Amino acid sequence: MTVKRSAGSTGAGRFDALDLAARGEVLAGEIDISRRPRVVDRLAPNTTSAPIAWQIAGARDALGRPMLAVSVEGDLPQECQRCLQPFDAPISQRSELLLARNDAELERLDAEEAEVLLAAAPLDAMTLVEDEILLWLPFAPRHPEGQCPAEVAATSGSEGVQAVQATSSPFARLAALRKGTDRNT
Ligand SMILES: [Zn+2]
Repeated sequence: MTVKRSAGSTGAGRFDALDLAARGEVLAGEIDISRRPRVVDRLAPNTTSAPIAWQIAGARDALGRPMLAVSVEGDLPQECQRCLQPFDAPISQRSELLLARNDAELERLDAEEAEVLLAAAPLDAMTLVEDEILLWLPFAPRHPEGQCPAEVAATSGSEGVQAVQATSSPFARLAALRKGTDRNT
């Protein structure tokens, strides 16, 4: 099996997925997702670096159909929605995507298979990696059971922590907006 290392940490760029599957080759590298606009909003605030190792392996499924196995591994800086403290959530995710050569095949495979990808045109490796991370990211990340300071406080008899971010409330933003308008008139 051939492993192609991508140059630098920015990614491998576009590649022919059907060709990769036919050759059984593997693309691999590391990406700093704190620099990726699609993902950065879902990370803990003030994250300066979040390196994630990724791999895209071309293969054939049991029926001989072309597929990709996309896997990502590393630590994702998350903000716990219970105590609002940052923590590292370990990610180890792998998805198998069946490749469709055209729209007709996509439609046909989509009806019977869980995950199908249209590979008529070259695919962007980093988009696939980002998709994989976005799929995994919890909607409301929390410390693992027993590791959240707020949870410990709650179980030790206090009322628990009800943290509210006042500065990001719609009313605060509206007030700031109004102030700006007043100054202009
Ligand atoms: Zn927590």
